Amino acid sequence: MIDWEGSLGYYIIGEDFGRIEDFKERGYAIIRCDASYKGGLGTCSISIETKNKAYKSTEKSFREKGSTRAELKSIYYSLMRLRNLNFNNVLILNDNQYAVSLVSGFFKPQTTREVCSKINKELKNSQKNIKFGLVRSKLNRKVDQSAKKQLRKYRKDQLEKYNERVKRVNCMITESQKHSCEKVNGGFSVITESGRKYLVSFDDLPTCNCYYWRKNWENKAEKIVKSKALPCSHICCAAEFSERDVFEIFEHQITGGIKL
Ligand SMILES: [Zn+2]
Repeated sequence: MIDWEGSLGYYIIGEDFGRIEDFKERGYAIIRCDASYKGGLGTCSISIETKNKAYKSTEKSFREKGSTRAELKSIYYSLMRLRNLNFNNVLILNDNQYAVSLVSGFFKPQTTREVCSKINKELKNSQKNIKFGLVRSKLNRKVDQSAKKQLRKYRKDQLEKYNERVKRVNCMITESQKHSCEKVNGGFSVITESGRKYLVSFDDLPTCNCYYWRKNWENKAEKIVKSKALPCSHICCAAEFSERDVFEIFEHQITGGIKL
């Protein structure tokens, strides 16, 4: 048998079920991990078995960009799970050649540098003997199916949240129709039915000096505002007045940055 591990940094297991049994006999814990990915959402499933015991699989959901990164995250979460387990020898099985080559150091990471460096750090700090094996999907079917099932659930949850956000923005637009608006120095003055005045601006980020906006978004980092803030009725009114589309301005926050 060719020693692929020596040259590639990982074992090519393929469909060889017997080889996995061999590793188990030699005292290895076998970790199977697989990821599922669609439109900015990723999930993974991780199962562990030893000669004498099969552990319950665990699933994770996360935001991610791309399926290779999601696959790498499944490896990262496997290493995290290993932290609290007392194994000396571990074989991690994954069916994505690119991901396995990256974590074995056979490929140099380009776009996946961040997650790869987290994995390397974890490998470095681990006292365990950790090996990687490339398997055919068939051999990882259980975790593959669990990851897919988890992704369907995750997407459904995210879709519900997205619908709630759309509903909320629509409510604010309805509310905004009771206000009036005029252009002033530094932005727009929005006057409510009860005569209260609020200052709205659309500079770099939209802002309003109402209680809702100040309480939730005024002192938050730009990154958080850009990913989470939803408009108040005053911003909706000023947007309508200045012919801006509030759904476009808050697109990222409303969709949650994912493609549904
Ligand atoms: Zn406001």
